[in-house]
Amino acid sequence: MHTLQNLQSIISNDLVPVTEIDIRVLSEISSEKPVYVSIYLPTPGKENDHLNKLFVESRIKAIKKVLPPSLLEQFEKTYSMIEKWLFEKPVSAEKGIIIFACAACSFLQIYRIAVEPERYLVVDTSPFILPLGRLQADFEDYGILLVDSREAKFFCIRSDIIKEHKHLSTDLMNKHKKGGWSQMRFNHLRKGAIKSFLSEVINNIHDTCDQFPTKGIVIAGPGEAKHQLIEMLPKEVKQKLLGVMDIPMNTVSYELVEAGDGILHEDAKSTSRRRAEEFRSEILRGGLAVHGLKAVKESLEQGKVNVLFILQGLSVPGWICERCHNLQANAKVPKECKTCGEPILVVNVLEKLFELAQKTGAEVEFVEPEELLDSTDIVAALLRY
Ligand SMILES: [Zn+2]
Repeated sequence: MHTLQNLQSIISNDLVPVTEIDIRVLSEISSEKPVYVSIYLPTPGKENDHLNKLFVESRIKAIKKVLPPSLLEQFEKTYSMIEKWLFEKPVSAEKGIIIFACAACSFLQIYRIAVEPERYLVVDTSPFILPLGRLQADFEDYGILLVDSREAKFFCIRSDIIKEHKHLSTDLMNKHKKGGWSQMRFNHLRKGAIKSFLSEVINNIHDTCDQFPTKGIVIAGPGEAKHQLIEMLPKEVKQKLLGVMDIPMNTVSYELVEAGDGILHEDAKSTSRRRAEEFRSEILRGGLAVHGLKAVKESLEQGKVNVLFILQGLSVPGWICERCHNLQANAKVPKECKTCGEPILVVNVLEKLFELAQKTGAEVEFVEPEELLDSTDIVAALLRY
């Protein structure tokens, strides 16, 4: 069991980008008993408030029915610790709230987020991180550079929270007054001035999202300047180019985010297609790929998994033996572990595999059932070695 004494409570009063939530630390936390309560709710709006209340009430009722008295008392303590946060007024641009809590472990994390989660209220032996993993996969951080021949705006987008980090501009016309020059000379100077402005923009390009590891950058703007800039980009920046958008300089921020997200999702789709092809060719030649629960779990435990393909749905029931790590999906729950005779725990198998992936630094790709090799598969993996 992970000791929690040194884990501070985190209560965010402002919006937190989902990528900032330390899912790896959360994946390490577990207890022998189901004492962790995890809640995901979409927040703003009267309709959501009403649906949230109905949802929470019905989940609590169901949970209370199945918990034994000692755990019921734990649950009630934990719930009373978080209750007041559940229906608080959302902060500006908030779209959801995520809570992980356990009263017995003095553990409380509350995150206000700018993207909308599906509703969950789960009691388990560890924080339920699979929906967070999905959100992190769908909303990676990226930069947008909005540029024309005289102005450049550097934006960083972190789960739909957009921030302008830098703004450069140049006054071409004032620098090069037409008076006294031939048209040809004027055009020549103007071209030179644009080029030097774009070089300055490139020198500052790392300022779009400087402190954060990003998925890449989208270059946007009206007219020709953006294409000229792309041609001038150093190789390492060009490799991070996610796409190009033709839009006006005065595009409002939510439209900018919407268009940028479109490009990000296209890029994610093409990565996923490439990985699926790689997986199939590795399987064909008996190479670095495995499928099926047993093989994938063993590879995860050995730290061999590079990319874990996991079924898009969020729950596959099963059981685990914490002593010998026997993990079974969709099977009838036995009284004790069939291998070592220890008492077993009922678990969500996808969550257990996802936790293993987080602990070993494997990337996770959420896939549709038809993308897996076999209709009974819930996971597959590309291996490192
Ligand atoms: Zn066992």
